[in-house]
Amino acid sequence: MKWDEFSDWGKKIAEWAQDYHLTVGDKPVRAQTEPGDILDALPEQPPEQPQAMEDIFRDFEAIVMPGITHWQHPRFFAYFNSNASAPSVLGEFLASALAPQCMLWQTSPAATEMETRMMDWLRQALGLPQGFAGVIQDSASSATLAAVLTMREKALNWQGNQHGLFRRKPLRIYCSAEVHTSVDRAIWIAGIGQDNLVRVPIKGGWRGMDPDALEGAIQSDLDSDCHPAGVILCVGGTGTGATDPVNECLKIAQKHGLYSHVDAAWAGSAMICPEYRHYWSGVDQADSIVFNPHKWLGVQFDCCAHFLKDPDDLVQTLAISPEFLKTHGKDGIINYSEWSVPLGRRFRALKLWFVMRAYGLEGLRERLRNHVNWSVGLHDRLAAEPDFQIVTPPMWSLWTFRYAPEGNPDLDDLNLRLVNAINDDGRIYLTQTRVDEDLAIRFQAGQFETTENDVRMAYDVITDIARSLS
Ligand code: PLP
Repeated sequence: MKWDEFSDWGKKIAEWAQDYHLTVGDKPVRAQTEPGDILDALPEQPPEQPQAMEDIFRDFEAIVMPGITHWQHPRFFAYFNSNASAPSVLGEFLASALAPQCMLWQTSPAATEMETRMMDWLRQALGLPQGFAGVIQDSASSATLAAVLTMREKALNWQGNQHGLFRRKPLRIYCSAEVHTSVDRAIWIAGIGQDNLVRVPIKGGWRGMDPDALEGAIQSDLDSDCHPAGVILCVGGTGTGATDPVNECLKIAQKHGLYSHVDAAWAGSAMICPEYRHYWSGVDQADSIVFNPHKWLGVQFDCCAHFLKDPDDLVQTLAISPEFLKTHGKDGIINYSEWSVPLGRRFRALKLWFVMRAYGLEGLRERLRNHVNWSVGLHDRLAAEPDFQIVTPPMWSLWTFRYAPEGNPDLDDLNLRLVNAINDDGRIYLTQTRVDEDLAIRFQAGQFETTENDVRMAYDVITDIARSLS
């Protein structure tokens, strides 16, 4: 294909994309294909000769589309949403047309300086104090890995990268059992070892870490010659929205000189609304905070905002500059590849700029508030049904429930069957979690085009299908 044919195809695909987004609500949310269907439909060998774009596009519709689970569907209530709002798709389109490699300031000054400005816009939007600097990472998992590596290096007086962890006291990192598995992975990759990830017990309705237990765990490690290195808190955990008492836990981390990281991958977006900020009050004491605009803020995947109180800690951990990456003669510039694990970086700030300008913070706040209010409304209706139990209460727009008709002894099996039957039906999409060992079904609303009617429909689907099962 030549570039002079590009705009024809660009227009066709833009029209297709608009139509897709306007009609996606008519499709089943979860792909209804069986494992292997798509693989079998794709030729085993690559083509030797060029193929026409018409044929490629026809096969895209025939082969790929049936196997798509529609993350942009207005009744996608599973996991957390990964919104691709229209302005974000346009920003991403331009970024992909320019395709700059944004590892250093000089490899794309516009991308670097846009990133600095957008991260500061986000800092203000979240109500974080001046002094936090930001970087866009590809994912919250990468940000958490970067934070854990920083914990390791800081605790080892910046000697770990050079000398490794051999013959050292075990480094210890503290979190609750409600944190995302990206924390476990970061611990593995950093060489700290799963055994040294200390799970502090939780207490209270927010299923947050017990600060006294945190203090006790650190103290007992100090007494037994282990080396406390960092604390990881969650605000809006994946299963139930669990939220640690940020203020108290960060005070304990500070008292012991431990590096702290707050994972607010999903709920961080909600902090653009001042009324939700009490959930993380005290967060300004954190060393590192992550949230994903690619979840609830309408900026399509991937776009992860990572704030740092002192970016020098991160840079000292990750920066490496062989001669071919040096930027001579330019002082005071930022090379963002020194702030992240991958060297190569995409121009992610552009779509953030498009989204924040196209909606304004008020437009974004309105969407989030609607999601929370509609979700709480559904929660209230289901709570009033005697054969349903609310397992965990709404944390923003996320809560969990169980179908529990009288006389059914195996609720785990019943609810697993229920969630599968709902997803086979296709009108809505839900996922399950475990709460204190028991299976519970999650509900969360967060898709940008969701309406109140979409959330209301979830009530009919859930109650009808549940009662038809028992
Ligand atoms: N932290 C939390 C609380 C999450 O819910 C998720 C994903 O849903 C992650 C971290 C990982 O995010 P990412 O896919 O950006 O690595």
